Amino acid sequence: MKSKSHSIFKFCPICGAKLAKKKHDHLVRLVCTKCAFVYYQNSKPTVSALIRNKKGELLLVKRAVPPNKGSWDTPGGFLEDGEDPIPGLRREMKEELNVKLKNIKYFGIYTDFYFERYKIYALNIIYICEISSGNIKPQDDVSEFQWFKKRNIPYKKFAFRWISKALREYSK
Ligand SMILES: [Zn+2]
Repeated sequence: MKSKSHSIFKFCPICGAKLAKKKHDHLVRLVCTKCAFVYYQNSKPTVSALIRNKKGELLLVKRAVPPNKGSWDTPGGFLEDGEDPIPGLRREMKEELNVKLKNIKYFGIYTDFYFERYKIYALNIIYICEISSGNIKPQDDVSEFQWFKKRNIPYKKFAFRWISKALREYSK
């Protein structure tokens, strides 16, 4: 895989000297010209929830923030440094929707990318779960939510490509 995702970085985050492109292992990477720091870039881990209710409907949220503001999304977010996925998922659902989860089951991993100031790859870890307590109250980064029957899932209106792929597999 050839990625230019990290080419906007100019200076070493440790010593402040210039970074230069250099072949390191099997890829061209940014390497410090002074202290030999290698600026490894990795897909950023996220956790997302496919939340279903007793009727078998799926909860989707509308994004209130960029990227892709106004598009449908699954609730979730980035893991913090060193955070385990399931505690991270519980934290995100508390922050985003004010709910607690039960029956959390691993569903799959989907790699995708999006653009902010540069191309950012995400490694999306997906769980199927249900709400154990709390009434859904969308917080800052969500403008609305809706329960969807499988046949009504808005495949063409998702914020990220991985969601359509995952939900087609989920709906089989
Ligand atoms: Zn350096």
